[in-house]
Amino acid sequence: MTTRFAPSPTGHLHLGHAFAAMVAFSRAKKAHGTFILRYEDIDHTRTRSVYYDRIEEDLNWLGIHWNDTPWKQMNRLENYAEALETLKNLGVLYPCYCTRREIDSELKNLPNAPQGPEGPLYPGTCRGKNHSLTDCEPAWRLDAQKASRLIGPLTFRDRIHGLTAVQGNLLGDLVLARKDIGTSYHLAVVVDDAAQGIDLITRGDDLLGATHVHRVLQKLLELPEPEYEHHRLILDDRGMRLAKRSDALALRTLRASGISPRELLTSLEPF
Ligand code: GLU
Repeated sequence: MTTRFAPSPTGHLHLGHAFAAMVAFSRAKKAHGTFILRYEDIDHTRTRSVYYDRIEEDLNWLGIHWNDTPWKQMNRLENYAEALETLKNLGVLYPCYCTRREIDSELKNLPNAPQGPEGPLYPGTCRGKNHSLTDCEPAWRLDAQKASRLIGPLTFRDRIHGLTAVQGNLLGDLVLARKDIGTSYHLAVVVDDAAQGIDLITRGDDLLGATHVHRVLQKLLELPEPEYEHHRLILDDRGMRLAKRSDALALRTLRASGISPRELLTSLEPF
């Protein structure tokens, strides 16, 4: 079995990351499998080179060890471009020239703006439009309904949430290739999980919605189906998700306060 922990090097790891990393690490360990560390660094304007080392320091302190040199997604843009080409050839993508501001103003004026679990969805402005070629690079969006029709009914298996029917349109027409970088979290993660042979994907509950889209992409790209485990999130005293911004629960800060790795891990159990 191969599992992975895939942080973005945009800040220090906090307690939530320690928990997520431990879940992935212990599942692999229990199965005598392989645990992989991967850097999801396509948010290149927010990435800082110092965080790659800091992440490794924190994981080592926790006693977490990984196989091989960690992949960096910024080195894999060609692989994502290839997958994007496949999707274009299937006719399930369309170019989108909308700016964030245009989308927001369109949503404001729509009486029945499409809603997803985390707020309004892209209203489909550019879908079906015959754009004339311009110099400016478009974003590429998934035509979610067309893709769902093409692949038919689909499920995913989750160790906590059970067998789930995929709702291909849950998050609407997501951007699969951003204008600036030619890929997106969704495309990159699906391509890399398959390329690295990840067969159990463990990650926070907040990404359960994304899995619906990931299964659609796996099917379209003819990639193997992994098993999932969407685990609980570690919350702060006020019941809020931990953010990289809040330094208080950063592993570095806790380490400096004298806590031992064992004490810290005990406070997070069970994982
Ligand atoms: N890079 C994501 C994060 O830091 C992880 C996404 C995933 O596990 O699929 O939250």
